[in-house]
Amino acid sequence: MALHGKWTKLLKIVDEDSSKWLRTVHLKPPTEALIITAQDQALRTNWLGHYVLKTAGETTDRCRRCRKFAETVMHIVNGCPMLAQGVYHERHNQVASALHCDFCGQYQLPRGQHWWEHKPEPVTENERVKILWDFTLRLDRLVEARKPDILLIQKASGSNPQKITIIDIAPRDEILAEKEEEKISKYQPLRMEPERTWGGKAKVVPIVVGTLGALPKTFRATFRANQLDITVNVETLQEAVILRTFSILQQHFDLPG
Ligand SMILES: [Zn+2]
Repeated sequence: MALHGKWTKLLKIVDEDSSKWLRTVHLKPPTEALIITAQDQALRTNWLGHYVLKTAGETTDRCRRCRKFAETVMHIVNGCPMLAQGVYHERHNQVASALHCDFCGQYQLPRGQHWWEHKPEPVTENERVKILWDFTLRLDRLVEARKPDILLIQKASGSNPQKITIIDIAPRDEILAEKEEEKISKYQPLRMEPERTWGGKAKVVPIVVGTLGALPKTFRATFRANQLDITVNVETLQEAVILRTFSILQQHFDLPG
């Protein structure tokens, strides 16, 4: 079976901790059950019906929504062109906003009572930090304009110089590690303008969270390596992404809410 062990294979490149999310992330039993079934590639997708179960009447392996690609679990949770601008985009924003909420808490800035109620302001600032949300950097014509999610300026204090961090969030599954490298190189040209505007060194930190809750092995190391002095509440990000993936699956299979 072609998809056999795909999730197991994925687990080999992800942080072992991310498989422990069931114990740390508080999910309702139906959410947990559906996510586990998705991880096991055991959802009744058209692909599964067509090639594996060979159910009578299941004549196509194509996605019931876009009718263009094979309907695998990965296609539904992360690859369907019909969902990209809608629910995938909302999921991305939810994860980014959960992270923004986390940062606000660490810097004693105003924030929503819970991450899911948090509404990031375009600029949040105090004497220690300035956080820009969904900020578009103006680039020269040669570089395609891109939008990082969070721009964090940790202000100079004592002998520590000002630090600028561009944080880009991607809920993704396929080869989490490669994605991270791709993101780092994509954002390199973006460092120049913040460095000119605010002074100090800028760094690009990609945050890649699997749509079924997996994290790349390099996740924690990324923060240490960049000396970000930030602790990211990983469980919150996993919870944010899983809850959105759950509703994507629910809608796709028309499951009761
Ligand atoms: Zn599709």
